[in-house]
Formats: sequence, C-alpha cells, structure tokens
Amino acid sequence: MGRIRVKFPDSKVVLIFLFVVVAAGLILNITSERTFGVFWFYAPLSGRTIVIDPGHGGIDGGAYHSDGTLEKHINLSVALKLKSALERNGAKVVLTRTKDEALDHRNNKSKSRHRRDLIARADIINEVNPHVYISLHVNAEKNSPATRGPMVFYYQSSQESRRLAELIQARLEEVYQSAGQKVRKRNPNPNSTLFLLCNTRPPGVIVELGFITNESDRRLLKNPDFQSKLADAIAMALREYF
Ligand SMILES: [Zn+2]
Repeated sequence: MGRIRVKFPDSKVVLIFLFVVVAAGLILNITSERTFGVFWFYAPLSGRTIVIDPGHGGIDGGAYHSDGTLEKHINLSVALKLKSALERNGAKVVLTRTKDEALDHRNNKSKSRHRRDLIARADIINEVNPHVYISLHVNAEKNSPATRGPMVFYYQSSQESRRLAELIQARLEEVYQSAGQKVRKRNPNPNSTLFLLCNTRPPGVIVELGFITNESDRRLLKNPDFQSKLADAIAMALREYF
C-alpha cells in the first residue's frame, strides 16, 4: 500500500498569498467609508443590525391550507435560515420570535390579541432601532389559486424602504425562476395601512414569500432547500442595499 503524501505549498507562496490578502483588505478598507476592520469584505454586513420578524406564531397560524400547511412555520423556518445567512455576512440579527409563539402576552396595550401581537413586534423593532427590518409572511388568495409568487410591501413615503423592497422583490423572483416557475414581474407595493409599516421608525419591508393557496408555490415554500434559497436571496438583496 502506497502512502498518501501530502504536499505542503512552498512557504514563500504562502507568504505571498497572505501579503496579497492583507494588501487587498487594506486597499478595500481605505477606499470604503466603512471602517469595520481590514477583512470587512468577508463580512459585508458587519456593523449592520437587522431585525427579522417571522409573522404569526403560537395560537396564530397565519394563512393555511387544508393539507395542514401553516404560514407561521414557513415564516419561522425562513427567518432562522435568513438569520444564519446574515450572520455569515457579519450582521447583528435580532428576531422578534425564535420559536412557535405569539407575542401578544408582551404588552397590555390593546384589548385585541391580534393587535397586541403586532404592537409587540413594532415595539421590538423601535427599541432595537435596526438599520432595517424584514417581516416575513406567506400570502393567501383563496378565490384565485393560480395567483403566485413573492410580493414585497413598504411604507409608501419611505424611499429607503422602497429601495430595499425593489431589491428583495427582484431577488426573490429570480429564485422562483430558477426553480422553473414562470414569474410575472411585479413592482413592490407601496402601503400606508399595514400596522407594522405605519408604526415603526426604521426602514423595513413586509415580504410575502409566496402564496400558500397556489399549489406549486406551496410545494416550494415547504421545501427546506427552497427556503434556504429564499433566505440567501434576501441576504443578497440586503448586501446590495447597504
Ligand atoms: Zn401573514
């Protein structure tokens, strides 16, 4: 039996490689207005705080389908994958929930359980005061099962939110396209009535990841690999945004 010989690269080659990496880091750092360290280019979201809000939870399943699919599970699953993707990029991430729970017990500001839940989410976003927030949801259109694809909402007078919404909308459509879906291009939706958009100060968007009422969207949305692709697409859009 022959021995496997591991050949180490010449030490000069290693030194030159290290020098190039450090020099590239310094050059990129000097040319950037951001000074979060020499190797920031490995962590393009370093210094950025992002709140992820997985919609619904606990008693509130959100949108559902008769096959047992619940929106709340998809939201949380994509949120956790998005958290990992953003942290890999150096961001600080805060989730409004990390498990299957509603947030209405966190305040007593309304008689409505649903309203208390939304207030709790807005309070977290305003207290953390992130650079942006992303609220994750799944859409439903019972009377139109053919309707499908992602939709992103932003507060109509927030130009920053609009820019973020456009980037996320485009990236999510690419994910559906690469999964073989025919995608009807949409512009993100300006809105002035959704509670979260109206009651939060930082820029942010509500992302409807797809339609639970559409068979092929639903199949994709339940697939962990597709969920990862959605999360990566949103992370990519955030890199572009910053
Ligand atoms: Zn929802």
